[in-house]
Amino acid sequence: MARAHNFSPGPATLPEPVLRQAAAEMLDWQGSGVGVMEMSHRGREFAQIFERTEARLRELLAVPAHFRVLFMQGGAIGENAVVPMNLIARRPARRADHVITGTWSKKTSREGERYGQVHVAASNEATRHTTLPAPSSWQLSADASYVHLCSNETIGGVEVHELPDLRALGSEAPLVIDASSHLASRPIAWDRVGLVYAGAQKNIGPAGLTLVFVRDDLLGHALPVCPSAFDYATVASNGSMFNTPPTWAIYIAGLVFEWIAQQGGIAAIEQRNVEKAALLYAAIDGSEGFYVNRVAHDCRSRMNVPFFLREDSLTPAFLDAARERGLLQLKGHKSVGGLRASLYNAMPLAGVQSLVGCMQEFAAHHG
Ligand code: PMP
Repeated sequence: MARAHNFSPGPATLPEPVLRQAAAEMLDWQGSGVGVMEMSHRGREFAQIFERTEARLRELLAVPAHFRVLFMQGGAIGENAVVPMNLIARRPARRADHVITGTWSKKTSREGERYGQVHVAASNEATRHTTLPAPSSWQLSADASYVHLCSNETIGGVEVHELPDLRALGSEAPLVIDASSHLASRPIAWDRVGLVYAGAQKNIGPAGLTLVFVRDDLLGHALPVCPSAFDYATVASNGSMFNTPPTWAIYIAGLVFEWIAQQGGIAAIEQRNVEKAALLYAAIDGSEGFYVNRVAHDCRSRMNVPFFLREDSLTPAFLDAARERGLLQLKGHKSVGGLRASLYNAMPLAGVQSLVGCMQEFAAHHG
């Protein structure tokens, strides 16, 4: 069986060694006589898996001791409600500053309106989400409970390459980051964030697991209506076992973290991601307009590359040609059309080289 190169935005491709190990251990995890999916989350075996997974994650991302790592459920859209339910009451104004950088952050701000006041501090809507507003231009509130930023917009393909220092901008509010589509692809500047959340189904593992990194001092502000299972303080004080966590997804995430460590850790993975993205952008920019990416160069995403054919009517033919070479899931998001290649950690350089080869051949044939 030949595995395809899967450019899906998520759920997305996973490292082949991880899938092979999971398959080998499916019926019997390391002599325990049962598979991981069938184990009690409170048993000795799963406790071992869980502890190792959290330790590896902390080590890889250099998570400081004053941040809790929570293994939750509900996805990033769930977090769009869970974050305000936990943080909006930190300050009496119950206001959150939102920076709009694309489709996902817009959705986040709309959900936030259900729990408090949303103040749009900056937006890239005027450029149709192809630029990033400079932090110095953000209109931050004096009394915000937090500032929300999506640091990689999966649909528009813009990425924040350096997190802002809110204190230098005159705000004491914690920065909350939706890092769903680039977590573990690069280091995190922990001194600049208060909370980071991500759905797992891009760089981390299967859908169903949501990771939340939260600074200690942000615990304990949940609204009374916040479900106990989503109250960060409750989840933290129960070691993510207040309710049954997504055990299978946590196990796979642990294998993915081991794989990242074997690749040389986050710095090495980041270097590979830089190379893969550079290769694809160079092919687009060097195509004399046959392919176009509209995002400003300084905020182009390494993870999600949306692009278009000058002749849009050729898009279905391109997708057919790609499929024939085993290059899958390259169709653009339905709201923007065109094409999109997601280059998460598990996409090998060979996959990008094959895509670039396909693009050049297609352009030579149809250009
Ligand atoms: N935020 C970002 C940046 C995303 O890419 C996605 C999913 N594509 C979401 C939020 C929504 O995630 P979920 O479907 O896990 O709720």
